[in-house]
Amino acid sequence: MRLGVMGGTFDPIHHGHLVAASEVQSRFALDEVVFVPTGQPWQKADRYVSPAEDRYLMTVIATASNPRFTVSRVDIDRAGPTYTIDTLRDIRAERPDDELFFITGADALAEILSWKDAEQLWELAHFIGVTRPGHELSDKGLPEQRVTLQEVPAMAISSTDCRARVADGEPVWYLVPDGVVQYINKYRLYAGPHADPRDDT
Ligand code: ATP
Ligand code: MG
Repeated sequence: MRLGVMGGTFDPIHHGHLVAASEVQSRFALDEVVFVPTGQPWQKADRYVSPAEDRYLMTVIATASNPRFTVSRVDIDRAGPTYTIDTLRDIRAERPDDELFFITGADALAEILSWKDAEQLWELAHFIGVTRPGHELSDKGLPEQRVTLQEVPAMAISSTDCRARVADGEPVWYLVPDGVVQYINKYRLYAGPHADPRDDT
């Protein structure tokens, strides 16, 4: 099987994530794309992150209707901060025969490339960097064999903006799936005392 792996905080998951995953699934003929919400930062991060269980459930709701999309708990069930190397090792252990394609936005790709252990990442998966409005997708210094850049339909949506909108009482309809709008309202996410929605981290 050709397996896409889409990691993210998904706080909340939005249509930018879903379009990127769908486009890569089609272009690279992936059998499945597994969404992997990150674990809860155990140190006080620079912004409040919603509980892992809420982010996991919103990801399940958002992907439920697509037969090729699934969700994994590997990162939220592992203690400590999430590192992509651990995500890929855990997925590989569960699916030893699958070929892995890690899907990531231009901003996250730049970050991954700066890591010391990047060499080990290239051995575990092929990396697909997708375009994202406001972020350059440059191929400077990318190992050509292991990284492919892919244009996806431009969706100027970020979770940071979605959180800010909810906190300001503005709509997030059509930025996130309907079920996610309802989940946010039902559990009053992003509107409480923890909300620090303008912190773009
Ligand atoms: P935040 O604003 O809280 O950082 P985010 O919108 O960047 O949230 P993440 O969960 O951080 O969402 O992103 C997960 C992955 O999806 C990252 O690789 C990111 O680059 C990618 N991504 C996020 N939004 C888009 C988008 N609109 N188009 C393409 N890729 C995206
Ligand atoms: Mg981000």
